[in-house]
Amino acid sequence: MSAATYEGSNIFAKILRGEMPAHKVFEDDIAFAFMDIMPRADGHTLVIPKAPCRNLLDIRAEDLSALMPRVQKVARAVKQAMQAEGLTLQQFNEQAGGQVVFHLHFHLLPRWSGVSLRPPATQMEKPDVLAAHAEKIRAALASA
Ligand code: AMP
Repeated sequence: MSAATYEGSNIFAKILRGEMPAHKVFEDDIAFAFMDIMPRADGHTLVIPKAPCRNLLDIRAEDLSALMPRVQKVARAVKQAMQAEGLTLQQFNEQAGGQVVFHLHFHLLPRWSGVSLRPPATQMEKPDVLAAHAEKIRAALASA
């Protein structure tokens, strides 16, 4: 079986190129973070590398090393901004592994005791709710 290759037509590549809108919370030369439009928890945020890669299996080790401190930085801000008690990190690889969008992304899911995650891709969140959560997370990043 040949290795799957990166396709620049995926939705997150379009967001990175500015061809699709996103509720951005963070951006630098390495990473981009934005609100998931079908959140499994309030404040569900995605962090992606700017480097073109499908998932954890093909990202260059040096790009992953640069990315992970950004994932941590945004995770801390998400937890603080959402006043969460905990945070779940999820990351899926290839269709059989649950991946739907083929540009590497880390899911940051704020958690509260006794509150289950919603099932994946069930409901689009209202844009004003996503905008309000993004604003809180940007504020937490600015004060970090
Ligand atoms: P997965 O590939 O299974 O890790 O999940 C892809 C995630 O991307 C899902 O949680 C979707 O809700 C989310 N998603 C899909 N399209 C967009 C978009 N345009 N903006 C933000 N999140 C998206």
